[in-house]
Amino acid sequence: MARSDRAAEAMQARGALAIVLASRNPKKARELDRIVRDAGLDVRFLSLELYPDVPTAPEDEATFAGNARAKALWYARATDQLCLADDSGLEVDALGGAPGVHSARFAGAGASDAANRAHLLAGLKDVPAERRTARFRCALALADAEQVIFEAAGTAEGVILAAEQGAGGFGYDPLFRSTELGRTFAEVDSAEKDRVSHRGRALARLVAFLRDTPPG
Ligand code: IMP
Repeated sequence: MARSDRAAEAMQARGALAIVLASRNPKKARELDRIVRDAGLDVRFLSLELYPDVPTAPEDEATFAGNARAKALWYARATDQLCLADDSGLEVDALGGAPGVHSARFAGAGASDAANRAHLLAGLKDVPAERRTARFRCALALADAEQVIFEAAGTAEGVILAAEQGAGGFGYDPLFRSTELGRTFAEVDSAEKDRVSHRGRALARLVAFLRDTPPG
């Protein structure tokens, strides 16, 4: 029996719902784990690292929701487990919605978070404060090997600052001042971010679904 099958079986024996998380990003996995655990749900995420032979899903859809659906189905079929996929990114109004689905590679394939932030600042250098509106979006999809069984989306509105503020978070967080918090996502603690963030909101909908209609 494969290591991943044993892990899933052990969790199911304890009553926990095992869900493969369609991400190799450990920060994302930790953020998701924390939100679901804080909600009191007995869900254990199995990292994709348990499935080293599964090829990486293509991520070439035009929308966050399309990418989330495609990734959830791809990994659910490859692992024969329930699979949760998320796709997220930043939309900047003055850039016509860019970087959007290209957020992770805005400054080029394999670009660092710092390089992506520098690229964003360069693109907005002549844009005045009142036109720097933006939002984070997150799409989630939960699938079994047959079909997508649940989808949710969340958004967080804000503005892009002219310089970084705060040392927490990841990605574009130091440049994104949340309208609701009045601070950047890099200046607040993770619980505060979860409460208003795109991912936190989409996950709250997933948590409600898992609580009301636990799959299989
Ligand atoms: P994904 O891994 O394909 O969903 O790419 C998401 C990209 O969008 C990340 O690499 C970040 O650059 C950006 N992003 C998504 N969510 C956040 C967030 O909560 N804070 C900062 N950046 C984010």
